[in-house]
Parts: sequence; structure tokens; C-alpha cells
Amino acid sequence: MSKIPVGVLGATGIVGQRFVQLLAEHPWFEVTAVAASDASAGRPYVEACHWLLPTAMPEPVRDMIVHPVEQMLECPLLFSALPSDVAGLVEEHLAESGVVVCTNASAHRMDPDVPLLIPEINSNHTVLLDAQRQRRSGRGFIVASANCSATQLAVALKPLHDVFGLRKVSVVTMQAISGAGYPGVPALDILDNVLPFIPGEEDKLESEPLKLLGEPEDGHIRAAPFEISAQCNRVPVRDAHAECVNVELEDKASAKEVVAALRGFAASPEVASLPSSPPRPLLVSDENDRPQPIRDRDTEAGMCVTVGRVRPCPLLHFKFVVLGHNTLRGAAGGSIHNAELLVTQGYLPDPGASL
Ligand code: NAP
Repeated sequence: MSKIPVGVLGATGIVGQRFVQLLAEHPWFEVTAVAASDASAGRPYVEACHWLLPTAMPEPVRDMIVHPVEQMLECPLLFSALPSDVAGLVEEHLAESGVVVCTNASAHRMDPDVPLLIPEINSNHTVLLDAQRQRRSGRGFIVASANCSATQLAVALKPLHDVFGLRKVSVVTMQAISGAGYPGVPALDILDNVLPFIPGEEDKLESEPLKLLGEPEDGHIRAAPFEISAQCNRVPVRDAHAECVNVELEDKASAKEVVAALRGFAASPEVASLPSSPPRPLLVSDENDRPQPIRDRDTEAGMCVTVGRVRPCPLLHFKFVVLGHNTLRGAAGGSIHNAELLVTQGYLPDPGASL
């Protein structure tokens, strides 16, 4: 089977490295080009990249020369791990030029005709691509992954929203250092400490889940009709974000029914068969002291969201803890999963067919 040639933008960063790692083993996609800033462009990837992952740098990319982003127009599909302030114009230009961009950056997430996708919860949002392609009068388009904290929150909220309806959500996050990129937060700021502010994060967490759980309507997404209040903290954990969540439901429910709804959550058969789909997208732990970053973040290759400590709440109705891997499910793994959905829905060429 011939694979779809893909490029990675921001390939030397934390998320870019995850893309390179995951794509090295991918059955449908093959990395043929990498790009980063002017500081890296022109150098072999192995020299330009400070490799941070515990697995070896994949052989095929080691000697690839890092390109500036403007030279990436040849790839039909680009995965973007660019900083958001750079991504806005670059991704727009690429999509206008006919490239399909699956992005992790926040720049286009809330654009009305850009699908903010998590295949298990809103695979029907790709319907927005018809409006987006019409606007661009070409084949290129942008599909976005959500913010890492919003992703795992939306996965946990989806079954509750579907079964009982949601009225209010309060979430307090404990977010890993890797979420800040590399070199990220200085050691002297985060060791032995908690930082109670992550720029822009609370706005994203209060808005993106409402688009993720909304419904397509006339070329845009009608936001889900509940309210979210978020407080975000950076904590001295390497990978994985934990979130303490309180919810008020529309319908009356027992804790047992809430757990049953969470446990009953499953992907559609179309989505379950994608290469990156975890067998269980959402796992409920019965143990009192779970989920924990080091014990639960790698469940199902980092693509599973774990919920634990589901119990009644004296202020709202229920409270629980949610944990997910920020650079796998919350970033590179999520974007690759989105691209797989685009292939099965016919928005990207089938890797089995000639390109
Ligand atoms: P990072 O470690 O700082 O990496 C940034 C990458 O972008 C590097 O490859 C860097 O190249 C490149 N870059 C910087 N300025 C550039 C420019 N002007 N032109 C071209 N390339 C440029 O950041 P990250 O954590 O991987 O995050 C990447 C994106 O994913 C961000 O938009 C972030 O918000 C989003 N995201 C991150 C996470 C996470 O958990 N980290 C989760 C979800 C979404 P050089 O090495 O050459 O500087």
C-alpha cells in the first residue's frame, strides 16, 4: 500500500517530535518533509532538534533537512505544531494554496467553518469542510485539534451531555510542564511550586468544549448550551493534565447512573476502526486514588482519557477527576486521528489508491 506523504510544521518542538515519533509507525502516512523556524531551517533534523522523547529518533527523519515553512507546499497533508501566533497566517496561506492542514495551534480553532474535531465525539463536524472549501475555492482546508485540557474534558463530558444534559461545569486543572513547549517554564519557577496562571488557557477551556459538543447548523456549529468556569494551574508533572470537575446536570441521576453513562461511552464503528483509535476512549477507575499522571497517562498508548473518583457534590450534582496525555490524545495523537477520519470520509485520498 502506498502511504500518503505528509509534512510536519514545528517538527523540532515538543508536539512536533510526537508527530515524528507517531508517524514513523503509521500505516497510512509517511513523513517526507519537516519544517521549523529560521533558526533550524537548513540543518539536518538530528542537529536542529533537541530530541526529548524516551524512544530513539526515527531513522528516516534524522538526516532530513529542516525546511522553512514556506517550502512545504509540496505535501498534500501537513500536521502543524506551530506556535499559534505564527500558525494563523501560515496555515491560512497553506490552505489557500491547496494543502490540507491538521493543526494543533489555537489560531483557527474557533473559525466558524473550521471543524474542531475529536473523532469519537463529533465526527459529523467535518460537514463544515464543504463551506470552508467553497470559501477557498480550492482543495485545501484546515481541521483543528482542540486545546489539550479541553480535549480530555470534552471526552469526559460527552456521555453526560448526551444522556443527562449538562447545565454547569466547573473545572480546575493541574497541567503538565510539557504543555508549555520546550524549553517552556524555567525550572526555578516550577520546581517545588504551582503556577496559578496559564496565559489564554481558561478562555480556551471555557469555549472550546462548547464547540466540540455543539451541533452543525447552516455551515457553522451551534454551541452546546451549558456554562463552563475554568481555573488552570501549571504543576511540576512532566506529561498529562489532571482536572477536578464538578457538574450540574439537566436530568436527575444517581452516581451509579453517571458511572454507567461514562462506562457506556464508545466510538462509532467508523471511528473505532481508525488506526489511532484506542480500544477504550474513556476508562472509569474504581480506585480511590486514581487517575494519576504517572500511572494512567499511557493507557491505550496515551489515547485514553481516564475518569475517577465519581461521587456526589454538595454544591453542584457530581464531581470527578479526569486525566489525559497532553501531547498524545491532547495534541499529536489527536491530530493524526483527525487525519485518519478525513481519509475514511473521503476528504483525503485513500492511501490504497494511487496519489
Ligand atoms: P514548542 O515546543 O515551543 O515548539 C514550537 C515549534 O515551532 C518548534 O519546532 C519551533 O522551531 C517552531 N517555530 C517557532 N517559531 C517559528 C516560526 N516563526 N516559523 C516556523 N516555525 C517556528 O511548542 P509545542 O508545545 O510543541 O506546541 C506547538 C503548538 O501546539 C502550539 O500552538 C501549542 O499551543 C499547541 N499545543 C501544544 C500542546 C502541548 O502539550 N505542548 C498541546 C496541544 C496543543 P525551532 O525549534 O526552530 O524554534
